[in-house]
Amino acid sequence: MNLKKYEYWFIVGSQDLYGDETLKQVADHARIMTDEFNKDSMLSGTVVLKPTAITPNAIRSLFEEANASNNCAGIITWMHTFSPSKMWIQGLAINRKPILHLHTQFNRDIPWSSIDMDFMNLNQSAHGDREHGYIHTRMRLTRKVVAGFWQDKELRRRMDVWMRAAAARKDGMDSTVMRLGDNMREVAVTEGDKVEAQIKFGWQVNTWGIGDLAVRYAKISGAQAEKLAEEYAAKYDLAPDLNQSGKTRDAMLEQAKIEIALKEMLESEHAGAFTTTFQDLHGLPQLPGLACQRLMEQGYGFGAEGDWKQSMLTRAAKVMAAGLSGGVSFMEDYTYHFEPGKEAALGAHMLEICPSIAEGKPRIEVHPLGIGGKADPARMVFDAASGNAVLATLIDLGSRFRMIVNEIETVKIENAMPKLPVARALWKPYPNLSDAAEAWIISGGTHHSVYSSALTTEYFRDFAEMSDIEFVLIDRDIKPARLQDELRRSEAYWSR
Ligand code: MN
Repeated sequence: MNLKKYEYWFIVGSQDLYGDETLKQVADHARIMTDEFNKDSMLSGTVVLKPTAITPNAIRSLFEEANASNNCAGIITWMHTFSPSKMWIQGLAINRKPILHLHTQFNRDIPWSSIDMDFMNLNQSAHGDREHGYIHTRMRLTRKVVAGFWQDKELRRRMDVWMRAAAARKDGMDSTVMRLGDNMREVAVTEGDKVEAQIKFGWQVNTWGIGDLAVRYAKISGAQAEKLAEEYAAKYDLAPDLNQSGKTRDAMLEQAKIEIALKEMLESEHAGAFTTTFQDLHGLPQLPGLACQRLMEQGYGFGAEGDWKQSMLTRAAKVMAAGLSGGVSFMEDYTYHFEPGKEAALGAHMLEICPSIAEGKPRIEVHPLGIGGKADPARMVFDAASGNAVLATLIDLGSRFRMIVNEIETVKIENAMPKLPVARALWKPYPNLSDAAEAWIISGGTHHSVYSSALTTEYFRDFAEMSDIEFVLIDRDIKPARLQDELRRSEAYWSR
């Protein structure tokens, strides 16, 4: 996943009142900043400097160009001098790209002994950016405002969070989720409006018959499966009966064939995410388990039981987390531990948890699955690495999408669970288990979510903001009763 291919157009605002000398200095400074941004490994995308924006027509043209550009994932604006914002109205009105309003200043310090009115006119973002912020607010435009000195590390980190969210958004605009079968029968929360999803996120949510996968599966040779199994053996531990001539090796080879067939199919349809359902597996020997884990590890979004919303959100999180330490996985709240002082939630799924969140080397094992009526599936078993993480989920409220994020701390699993043959994570949600669960349930959050140890709340908030959807945060400060009031007020805002 190459995030450098995404361009962020740097549009520096000024006006034509100051004369050529001042405008030349503005352009020089913007060039220096662009070069420095592009040298900084902390910034994942490519910053592309555009001509200084000084007239309404030129500004509108820049936004027209950005809308039409397939490489432009977002726009960074900064007013080096004053730049009257009525000049920006037409451009902003047609803009379709996420905006980062960078509120900074070229010089770090005030040059006390030499400062004069020329300097003041040239370096007046403190006032130009307020004019710029006003017009966004006046026009009810969503954007991220990041303020601080442009060489500061924390500012760069926040710029990069936005860049990654914008990259995920751009990826979504070009992305298809391949639904293999429909949603699990009678389940409410995995349903949703696929048309609205495409309007909001760009995601094309479409269905392919499981038979298409079964036909491809049947054509994968034993030699192809054995070749992939060599990669498994190099990368993961194999349970003893999975070695050459082991009695359950065939079950692993079947998953290898599913992985190869599914990947071929995803590539041929340019899909970035997919769903499966255990209720529709005609022509496949097992529920895809190891295959789903492997494809998630390679960057694909995944949702079980037809949950295409979480599949796409997993994909978006995979894009945002590209190259960062930590991982991203589809996740499900399974069961609780209510021992006083040690309250925690155990998350897992039937099989499909991504090894990018694992502590140590995952182990491939084959065990029966009490659901779906198919052969015993191979899967990777591991514990999730401990540390800070987030759970994010996306629900459809009928009239809008809502994203819910819960900040959690994943803890080491102290007790062996020899009879639980699935990958799992044990976490303590903030502010505590019962308040977090109450807040999540009041918000309508599903049992499915995206788990990430690589991302923080800010990534998901930026992504939700640029997608123009509701965002609910369950963090250290949340009080369920107050959240309930907040959600009711939010109804008024979102019915606009
Ligand atoms: Mn599930």
